[in-house]
Amino acid sequence: MPAIWATQPVWSLPAVALAVAALLSACRALGFGEGLLLGATPASGLALAAAVVLRGPGALAAAAGFALAGLAWGHGPSVAAIDALAHGLAAYAAAALMRHLARRYTRPERTRTREWLIFLAGTVAFTATVAAIVALGTAVHALGTWRTPLLAANFEPLGILTCGAMLASAREARAVLSNPRPVLAILFLGVALLTLLGVFLALPGGLVSPSGITLLLAVPFCLWVAMQPRSLDGAAVSFLAAHVALYVILRQTGSVVRADYVTTVLYLNIVIATCQLVHAVNRDRLSALEAIAAHKAELEARVVERTARLEQMTERAIAADKAKTKFLATVSHEVRTPLNGVIGMASVVLAADLDADTRRNVAMIRSSGLHLLDVINRILDYFRLDQAPTAHDDVDFDLAELAEEVVGEARYSDHAAGIELRTTVDPSLLTRRHGYRQGLRQILTNLVGNAAKFTERGSVTVRLLAREADAVRIEVQDTGIGIPVGRREGIFQPYEQVDGSISRRFGGTGLGLAICAELAERMHGRIGVLSEEGAGSLFWVELPLAVAAEQSPLPAVSLVG
Ligand code: ADP
Repeated sequence: MPAIWATQPVWSLPAVALAVAALLSACRALGFGEGLLLGATPASGLALAAAVVLRGPGALAAAAGFALAGLAWGHGPSVAAIDALAHGLAAYAAAALMRHLARRYTRPERTRTREWLIFLAGTVAFTATVAAIVALGTAVHALGTWRTPLLAANFEPLGILTCGAMLASAREARAVLSNPRPVLAILFLGVALLTLLGVFLALPGGLVSPSGITLLLAVPFCLWVAMQPRSLDGAAVSFLAAHVALYVILRQTGSVVRADYVTTVLYLNIVIATCQLVHAVNRDRLSALEAIAAHKAELEARVVERTARLEQMTERAIAADKAKTKFLATVSHEVRTPLNGVIGMASVVLAADLDADTRRNVAMIRSSGLHLLDVINRILDYFRLDQAPTAHDDVDFDLAELAEEVVGEARYSDHAAGIELRTTVDPSLLTRRHGYRQGLRQILTNLVGNAAKFTERGSVTVRLLAREADAVRIEVQDTGIGIPVGRREGIFQPYEQVDGSISRRFGGTGLGLAICAELAERMHGRIGVLSEEGAGSLFWVELPLAVAAEQSPLPAVSLVG
């Protein structure tokens, strides 16, 4: 239920008084009479609404309306005064309570459920005040038996609940007018149920209890109304239906102040209050779902937008990376050509007859050139990885020959001094294989080159081991400086070295192992390292390499089981 206390006042104080008096008179004229009873119900709702919206003056105006109607009906001044006082005070007290509860319980979040519960509390307070004052007035002025006004007060909530719900949802009027189908459906159901009620009441006397049947028919009606998404049509129709039902029974029973009749009204109050509560919870649930759906849609839109932006950025980054790679490859290539000239000329000069100083200097030029060439070659190798090997790159080759070739080259490198380099082959290994020889050569060259570079004394051993039929394991073991724990995983990343001093002491780019790891992956294999700091390292690589159709005799390398 929307906040009744947030509704803007659309009536002035005299209009409130006149409206209350007119409602009371109209009910009496229609035969709803019986003093304070049915006629009071919509007027009480109006009185509470006036007190909520217009505060004290509103309650006063409503009280004036009650007094006016009482006098017009010919009640004595004391009855009219008690009636007016009871309703004015009740409206004021209930409105004050509702305002207090609203201040306390609708922050930070205002829900329809909370508003309805507050409204219910106001209705109870209103009814209790009217009952108390009327009972007091009855006792003092002996208006009749004390039970009648108390029972009469039972009718107040009926008017307040339905009338209040209607006023509170007045802002839905436009929606009801633009789509009257739900209200027509409710009306249709109401008429159907009332017809049924008429049929029951026409049955021979004593067969059915009028109030029991009314209640029975009212329950499904109210529940159905409660499940409607709008408040106004449901509230308006249930108000009318409740009154019509009461009127029908009034015609049958003659008086509404009868125990079973009053009980029916009490039940009707509970049913309407519960149904409106269900309605409020339902509306809250629907708005929560709507909010979630809207939030979800917003998030999805944001994800789509971000994904598009990311894709754009990724494309740009890839393009930039490609351009950079191409630039570096070209520059490296261009640098290599004159560098080869420098190294070549330095070699030529070295071959000539030179004095010791000049020879040392020229040798320095040559070894620096060679080092620079090595660095450039590695950079070129790394960037060339962009071109993945294809089936055309696979050839038949001899694994043992390849290993010996690489080890042989390493023996002539600057790092080979003082260490023994050897190759061993598992006798059960079929060494003729089919695969990407070029890639494997690159892996072995890097691993053996590193092993020699980081070993000052001792040995470097390349082991070729058999795995299951189409797989081999190659191990390159050295007795060098080893790799500390915690640095072993990182070294397979590009530009990673164990620590900053490595490049100063041993040179290098930090690309060799990254190239090995990338090549091993492209060849569907694995690479890893076992190492002990200060004792040496064992780099291993396991690759699927098909056995070649033809096997040649083993080359001249040592065989180890
Ligand atoms: P580079 O040798 O050009 O620096 P790598 O990627 O080949 O680059 O090696 C990365 C780092 O891994 C080396 O700088 C070194 O710290 C460490 N490393 C590689 N091989 C060995 C080895 N056999 N013994 C000790 N450390 C090694």
